[in-house]
Amino acid sequence: MRKYILSLLPVAFVALVATAPAVARAEKSPNIVIILADDLGYGDLGCYGHPSIRTPNLDRMAAEGMRFTDFYVAATVCTPSRAALLTGRLPIRSGMSGDLQHRVQTRNSPGGLPPEEITIARALKGKGYATQAIGKWHLGHYPQNLPTSHGFDNFYGLRWSNDMEPTRGIPKGSSGNLDPKPEWWNCTLMRNDQPLEQPTDLSTLTKRYTEEAVRFIEQNRKKPFFLYFAHTYPHVPLFASKQFQKTSPRGLYGDVVEELDWSVGQVLDTLRKQGLDKNTLVFFTSDNGPWLVKDQVGGCAGLLQGGKGSTWEGGMREPGIAWWPGHVKAGSVNREMASSLDLLSTCLTLGKAPIPSDRIIDGVDMTPMLLGKGPGQRNLMIYYNGDEVYAIRKGPYKAHFTTFAGYSKEPPEKHDPPLLFHLPNDPGERFNIAAEHPEVIADIKQELENHRAKLVPGKRQY
Ligand code: MG
Repeated sequence: MRKYILSLLPVAFVALVATAPAVARAEKSPNIVIILADDLGYGDLGCYGHPSIRTPNLDRMAAEGMRFTDFYVAATVCTPSRAALLTGRLPIRSGMSGDLQHRVQTRNSPGGLPPEEITIARALKGKGYATQAIGKWHLGHYPQNLPTSHGFDNFYGLRWSNDMEPTRGIPKGSSGNLDPKPEWWNCTLMRNDQPLEQPTDLSTLTKRYTEEAVRFIEQNRKKPFFLYFAHTYPHVPLFASKQFQKTSPRGLYGDVVEELDWSVGQVLDTLRKQGLDKNTLVFFTSDNGPWLVKDQVGGCAGLLQGGKGSTWEGGMREPGIAWWPGHVKAGSVNREMASSLDLLSTCLTLGKAPIPSDRIIDGVDMTPMLLGKGPGQRNLMIYYNGDEVYAIRKGPYKAHFTTFAGYSKEPPEKHDPPLLFHLPNDPGERFNIAAEHPEVIADIKQELENHRAKLVPGKRQY
């Protein structure tokens, strides 16, 4: 018997060694999924107070995870916001900030996200992660700017917004139509760097993105993976699949957001079914605020002022939900300042990848906050509109040097002294308290000087 046990020992040892890396990975390098909505407002989800858009899956995600009240993106429109999220850098540093004439990348843009930028995908790929981008890219359409040149093994989605490949002669204002016709759009669905379908059936896009995401998770259940799932919607023109058409009390916009909510549920269910939920951080947010001038087909920023295109809170404060059962405390509400700029440092920390040290990274690591091990590390938010600083928040105070309605014929308005708001007291930015707090204004002005003194703008890509 003793001999028999001894003969088994080497087998047991080999088995132990063979499983050790898997165990170590389970503890140390989680999978990461970032789900990004497009133009979804601060007030558009049930768990952020919307009365008629039904989002049971996102509400459950928040109930099982952490919901942020003060989560910011780094720009007021699509392209620069996405550049910031993936690189952890203010878009002006990569040349992706644009200006009020050229706000986002178009089919005529001469550049895109420069190849030398380090994205979350590239850094995690270096650590053995499988990486996939699904959905809207909007960071350049030349081969060297596409996801497959930025650390993603695969890409399935659109290179631009869904309103940027119109057919000839469509009626004016078509994207804002409450009953948009599929034949008005000629979008190209891409697989990696090759066109797969044109025109793309826009009504089944969310469904097909979701199937692709589920497939990616199932196929990579045995290795660490990073999924960047950037939905095309609720950016206009709005289309939902049959199952969701004319079902929401909030009309077409509600149909589309409720399908996004379904999609989030599919992703989380897949993680649960595959036994990956305790080893996967999922973060949900949006790229910028609601496109208010689109009226009924635009979203809602709740009690916040302004929307897309503006540096009022409604343009850049977004829903932010972190989910990682057993690690992120269920049902927690985080009122600290955090930003999509912080996702790079957070993901790289979790993936044990070094934070780039040869360039300025504007993000901070959110893991202490997410794991309940320490406070947030962000005390400052710089609000850029294009390549100009319009406002700065320090602690509870936000100073506006310039304000702009976002999509208005009225030019931006300069303020000297700046407007000043205490955001916890006044989240709607209604009561200017500049006259009572000259010392706060002086302090924030100094922050602006410090920022400008060290700023080296990247080569413009628009
Ligand atoms: Mg957007």
